[in-house]
Formats: sequence, structure tokens, C-alpha cells
Amino acid sequence: MPHLKQWFVTGTDTGVGKTTLCRALLAAAAARGLRTAAMKPAESGCRRDPREGLVPADALALRQAASVAIDLGAICPYRFEAAVAPGVAAEELGETIDFTHIGRCRERICEAGPDLLLIEGAGGLLVPLGAGRTIADLARFLGAPLLVVARDSLGTINHTLLTVEVARGRGLAVGAVVLSACTPDTPEGLAASNAREIERGCAVPVLGRLPHVRGGEDLASVAEHALGVGRLVGPPDVVAAEVSRETSAAPAPPGVSRETSPR
Ligand SMILES: [Mg+2]
Repeated sequence: MPHLKQWFVTGTDTGVGKTTLCRALLAAAAARGLRTAAMKPAESGCRRDPREGLVPADALALRQAASVAIDLGAICPYRFEAAVAPGVAAEELGETIDFTHIGRCRERICEAGPDLLLIEGAGGLLVPLGAGRTIADLARFLGAPLLVVARDSLGTINHTLLTVEVARGRGLAVGAVVLSACTPDTPEGLAASNAREIERGCAVPVLGRLPHVRGGEDLASVAEHALGVGRLVGPPDVVAAEVSRETSAAPAPPGVSRETSPR
């Protein structure tokens, strides 16, 4: 995958706008002529349809926004009806979320030759995935640098710095933070100080503030205008390559899953 750029998209909380950011980046990348793909390895709160089974709303939105046609089974291999953390839902059903299977699904997606692959987590980094593992363990297993989506509100400096500190403590590289106006009434006044203090506190670039999206907007131009997406959509750069080496070389801290990337 010499030309593939990947991000593992995580949030400082659930409902902060990960899917919206992914859709906007996929649209902007496609408008730049790139082949795009996305996956949502585990989604809970799925609607149960009598004919189609469990319907993962985020994964369907990602599939619609991506330019490379991929079957939903590879995009979202683990779906749960209960609106609880995926690991909680899985354990209640006696099921296991198998990281190796998720890795194989990613390989199938990569065989379609995307230039950009966005992997959306579930909630934040310490959301359980069962058997004592978390979203951070999955991000580490998949070896993609993190893109952190942070709610642009009071409290986000703390939430974002906590997320970055946990990520680094678990051997994850954090590539960028994006602020998100996840509700229509989010005021704009805090964005500049939030961005400044996050950059000062953790030395990760804050690439911009994604405005609230109501539907019907041209997401590609929203992303280009708000984020200047060049650094996010590629081409794969030296920094990303160094980041992923750093991620795979870092030792797992105590208590962290020893599953390692197949790559
Ligand atoms: Mg989402």
C-alpha cells in the first residue's frame, strides 16, 4: 500500500462529529481526484430491519461518502443493536470482537486501491471492545495515526489533552486535532483559544473548526474551507510514515493488549 494514507478517527467523546468529519474529508479527497474508502469496525445502536438485519447508520453514511465501492460486511464487520459500547454489547451476547478479522476486512478494502482510508472508532479511546480491550488497542493493532475530533465547547481543552496523553501513553501517534461544532447552537467564540491551548498543551496541530452540518451542504467545500484538507487527505507524507513506524515500535504498556498488527 505505498500510496495509501490512513487515519484512525477517534473522538474526545461520543457524538462529537467523527462521522461528519469523515464524510467531509472523503468528499474533499474525492473532489481532489483521490480514491477514498472508510470503515467503521464496530457500530452499536444499529436499527434492526426485518429484511436487512442490523443497519449501521454511520457505516452506511461512510460507504455513501466513499468513492471506492466496498461491501458493507467489510466496512462494518461488528454491528450491535444495543446502544451501549460495542464491547459491552458483544459481551452481553457472548460474542468477541476479533481484531484479526477487522484487519482482514481492512485488507479487503485496501485491495480496492484507495488513496485514503478513514477508520472511524466508536466514541473515545477508552471505550471498551470486550476482553479488557479498548478502542486504543484497536487503533494500535491497526497501526494508523490518530485524528482526534474534539467538541468545540467549554471543556474541550481538558478532554482533548486527556485523549492525547492516553494515546501517547499507549504508544499511539496523534497526527492532528479537528474542532467540531457538533450542535447548531455551538458558539464560535471559543475556537481560537481552544485551538491555541490544545496546541500549547500537547504540540499537536489543530487543523481547524468544522462548522455544524445540517444536511444538503457541499461537504467537500465545507472541509476545504474549514480545514484546508491537504495535510489530511494526502499524499502520504514522511511524517505519516515515521508516525506509523513509531507506533508499531513502541512497547505496549502494562495491561494493554499484546495483539500486534499483522503488517
Ligand atoms: Mg459516528
